[in-house]
Amino acid sequence: MRTSRFPLLTVKETPADADTVSHQLMLRAGLIRRLAAGLYTWLPLGLRTLHKVETIVREEMNRTGALELLMPAVQPAELWQESGRWGKYGPELLRFKDRNQREYCFGPTHEEVITDVVRREIRSYKQLPLTFYQIQTKFRDEIRPRFGVMRAREFLMKDAYSFHVSQASLQETYDAMYTAYSRIFTRCGLKFRAVRADSGAIGGNFSHEFHVLADSGEDAIAFSDQSGYAANIEMAEAAVPPAPRPAPAENCMKVATPDKKTCEEVAAFLKIPLQKTVKAVAVMGAGGFGLLLLRGDHEVNETKLKKIPGFDNYRLANEAEIQQHLGCRAGYIGPAGLKAFLDIQSNTTLYKRLTQDPAVGRLEPFRLIIDRSVEQMADFVCGANEPGYHCRGFNLERDIEKGYIVADIRRVVEGDPSPDGKGMLKIARGIEVGHIFQLGSLYSEKLKATVLDEQGRDATLIMGCYGIGVTRVVAAAIEQNNDVRGIIWPDAIAPFHIALLPLNMHKSEKLRNAAEDLYRELMDAGYEVLMDDRELRPGPMFADAELIGIPHRVVISERSLDAGSVEYKGRLDADKTDLPRTELLAFLKQRVQATTQLG
Ligand code: ATP
Ligand code: MG
Repeated sequence: MRTSRFPLLTVKETPADADTVSHQLMLRAGLIRRLAAGLYTWLPLGLRTLHKVETIVREEMNRTGALELLMPAVQPAELWQESGRWGKYGPELLRFKDRNQREYCFGPTHEEVITDVVRREIRSYKQLPLTFYQIQTKFRDEIRPRFGVMRAREFLMKDAYSFHVSQASLQETYDAMYTAYSRIFTRCGLKFRAVRADSGAIGGNFSHEFHVLADSGEDAIAFSDQSGYAANIEMAEAAVPPAPRPAPAENCMKVATPDKKTCEEVAAFLKIPLQKTVKAVAVMGAGGFGLLLLRGDHEVNETKLKKIPGFDNYRLANEAEIQQHLGCRAGYIGPAGLKAFLDIQSNTTLYKRLTQDPAVGRLEPFRLIIDRSVEQMADFVCGANEPGYHCRGFNLERDIEKGYIVADIRRVVEGDPSPDGKGMLKIARGIEVGHIFQLGSLYSEKLKATVLDEQGRDATLIMGCYGIGVTRVVAAAIEQNNDVRGIIWPDAIAPFHIALLPLNMHKSEKLRNAAEDLYRELMDAGYEVLMDDRELRPGPMFADAELIGIPHRVVISERSLDAGSVEYKGRLDADKTDLPRTELLAFLKQRVQATTQLG
């Protein structure tokens, strides 16, 4: 391709409304343009990369034996009513009516449609297992579309669905998809990790997310430095090695901590390590008020807390609620002075703060939840439930009766032991580009999708589903591979392999002819070449090639022609390499991974 026929729609200035590096670079390099919130046009340059990702995805899906089909983007409401999701799926579902007032949605995902296809077409267990996939436009009316195509409203997804009559067969396909996904992201030239997305209530491999590692990623992932363990931080278990709690060595003592509210402030004031403090977090859930105790340097993990009955929809308690239950203001609250009693109605142990202070008034009982790490602490410092005071030498069971819930409610931190017992956890940020999921018979039961089994009886289908955000992969690749000058494409998904830059070509017929020859020669060798034949000074030419991220650059000039040489520079190279023109092809063969086929 020649830039005279393939206009580079590059922009110098960083667009003001672009919120991440990849979004900025996609706009600046002329890959995409915004039409409206979360809606983007893929310009020719961007589309070349998108198609490459699509091709890799398609090849690897076909390799597993999955069959490509194409379902409508618009789906009738009836199917969603049958699955029960018409009512459940929130405002992310774009609903509309046709001229006959029939209701439809624009598909955010296709479980219903594919299950309908299979229940109509597949009769016998003998036809199974089967996996279908499509690469198709989805629409989700995201509450906050952002980061360009990373979280768009309209985006391209590869979605696959597998059908089975046994869990063992589902597991087999699930494992094959895991392998296919690993190959896809490897072939795309990306650094990624497969992480456990659920602790695995149904089997050990219920769901995995695939994350491209990038500092700007929305998700935090925890992984072992010594084993393959990796999990979304929301799911990663804080593994506390079983250790007996040391016996109390100090007496419980109230100390004045004027204006010291946070654990950090208190630790500094009392000159003790932060790890000797315990913080209290007050929350409100459907089950009422709850007081959480965590080690001073730990944070609440929302996902874990939401798994505790009564707190699935919790929020932080407000000042009035804290007063009502603890008779104290935030900053000084804690487990001090609480009395436990069994609540017959809920059959749980509740705690109540006892106080003689008439000014405090009647206080209401509540639940106490203690993080596992706190359970192993002795002689800690915590709030005294009295403004301006904390307690030193506080000990569980001695200074507060048992009956509290002990649970894993904290976020893991770097250095925590890995839950599989091997190594320590490290934390990295990632962008979710794929998700594989064992659905079981969630949809097939609702939609009555059955086949005849070996005994000739109706068997409800077991399903798996497997998604890849194809458009998101492009943004994630840029997020992972860029520098101040622009994008650095991995070879396999670069829009062009080689930028051929003849300097001041319009001034020299000799150079023009040589450039044309080289252009043809490189293309005949199988490379995708972008030749810059614009009447441009070298500076802007180099800048464009770097901004759009072409991984290999070949420069020729009158001078190099006379010397019989060409100049090569890889996008990541610090220096240029001069080499004889005759050796260029052999050199490129070593350098360019035009097709990254895995074995
Ligand atoms: P997220 O948590 O990022 O919203 P999700 O869990 O809703 O993702 P899935 O329903 O599993 O996503 O969809 C499969 C894949 O589609 C995701 O792994 C992601 O790569 C991609 N995807 C989801 N939502 C969007 C979006 N709004 N824009 C671009 N890609 C998306
Ligand atoms: Mg989502």
